[in-house]
Amino acid sequence: MADYDYDVLVIGAGPGGYVAAIRAAQLGLKTACAEGRATLGGTCLNVGCIPSKALLHASEYFDAAANGAMASMGIKVKPELDLDTMQGQRKDAVKGLTGGIEFLFKKNKVDWLKGYAQFQDAHTVEVDGKTYSAKNIVIATGSSVTPLPGVEIDNAKGVVVDSTGALELSSVPKKMVVIGGGVIGLELGSVWRRLGAEVTVVEFLDQLLPGMDMDVRKEAAKIFKKQGMTLKLGTKVTGVEVKGKKAKVSVEPAKGGDAETIDADVVLVAIGRRPDVDGLGLDKIGLELNQRGQIETDHDFATKVDGVWAIGDVIPGPMLAHKAEDEGLAVAENIAGMTGIVNHDVIPGVVYTQPEFAGVGLTEEAAKERGAVKVGKFPMLANSRAKTNHEPDGFVKVIADAETDRVLGVWCIASVAGTMIAQAAQAMEFGATSEDIAYTCHAHPTHSEAIKEAAMAVTGKPIHI
Ligand code: FAD
Ligand code: NAD
Repeated sequence: MADYDYDVLVIGAGPGGYVAAIRAAQLGLKTACAEGRATLGGTCLNVGCIPSKALLHASEYFDAAANGAMASMGIKVKPELDLDTMQGQRKDAVKGLTGGIEFLFKKNKVDWLKGYAQFQDAHTVEVDGKTYSAKNIVIATGSSVTPLPGVEIDNAKGVVVDSTGALELSSVPKKMVVIGGGVIGLELGSVWRRLGAEVTVVEFLDQLLPGMDMDVRKEAAKIFKKQGMTLKLGTKVTGVEVKGKKAKVSVEPAKGGDAETIDADVVLVAIGRRPDVDGLGLDKIGLELNQRGQIETDHDFATKVDGVWAIGDVIPGPMLAHKAEDEGLAVAENIAGMTGIVNHDVIPGVVYTQPEFAGVGLTEEAAKERGAVKVGKFPMLANSRAKTNHEPDGFVKVIADAETDRVLGVWCIASVAGTMIAQAAQAMEFGATSEDIAYTCHAHPTHSEAIKEAAMAVTGKPIHI
């Protein structure tokens, strides 16, 4: 290594970068990680997965107490919202977990270079006025919010906000308009709806949750409507006018028709995220982006520039923390001369509302494009545990190859769908058939039995429907 300060220098300490740095250090490589934020953990721990789940969890309890769900089980309570405390526990969760990464860096002897890194050449970066060289540099700079042209986000003012602003609201808005019926819009829209806001979701496409199975997307619309959200599907936002602490959102049908305005106290812009390469100096190393602004890599996460690698939200694929983490492990192992692999065909996705929406593998639509399929479906209403717990919404759907019976995709809507989907991912990773799942003994009474029954339904033989 003689000529370099480090064997590996990772840029960005999100779930991709910090995992890559820790694994590289575990493998005996001298490792540093540059991070410009005041705390480690990236989007996920600071302003993404963790704080959103802290508010989703707390608001779910509030909702259960407020909407009569607890009363139906003989628990009579009148909840009173203490938003400061709720927000305080969100901040505590973030502080604990980001501090945990700092501890892990120290434990594994990863040097944290505090500041934003900029390439000088393919083996050198500048961070806060100092230069550092490394044999391998891993770009893990993540993503940032996609702006909506003509709509200015001002999180400090708190009227037109992005996801970060929507996590920080200090009072419950009376009326909230969410632009974008994707994961962020539905998760954070649910938080504030549960706490008392009237929430309207404006989605450009005809259905919510693009990328998920169409049955799931249609069911999602029914469930969120039943929960009290107003959905404006197939609708585009043409402008947002802010006057003082209020906004007027102008919308019209995406395929043409009458325009209208919706009043809002808070407007959440959640129309996607885009790779973050600002200030990285990619021009200095001759690394170009693809048409979607992403850094392309080969199967090993190597870019076209020798010694420069990339992982996580900044490269193609779903923008998910666990995808970034797995790529972090794999890139470190590849740099160390091992074989690091990520199976991008089996990456679960979960929307952490109530119920949760989860899926892994192909949608029925995509699977049918490849050939004949058999589909088994089982409603949560017929699952004894869900029924007993007063959780009637949802279903499990197993999609298998019609000829080989190999499982191609599994979709779940259930209170614990995010936990249930892990067994489907594992089964698919092992190349399971629907019969393999159907003949696996599942504990009773559990929500997961619905996966077994949906697998049994692939051959038309579930027991409980
Ligand atoms: P990031 O986590 O974005 O980390 C990149 C880091 O790089 C940042 O800390 C940034 O400051 C730093 N950086 C950027 N440029 C430089 C530079 N030049 N020098 C030094 N540092 C730099 N995913 C899930 O799987 N589950 C969820 O429940 C979930 N919830 C989410 C909720 C919200 C509100 C949001 C916004 C996202 C959520 N995500 C979730 C997505 C998840 O956060 C991302 O997919 C994940 O964080 C990507 O990891 P990453 O390591 O690629 O990048
Ligand atoms: P998204 O891609 O999930 O949803 C954006 C939605 O906005 C889409 O439905 C799109 O059709 C719609 N849209 C786009 N332009 C529009 C317009 N002008 N008017 C109305 N609708 C418009 O993006 P997101 O919800 O912003 O989330 C960003 C990323 O963060 C996602 O890739 C997601 O994977 C990740 N994330 C994941 C989780 C999770 O895993 N639970 C949670 C939050 C965020």
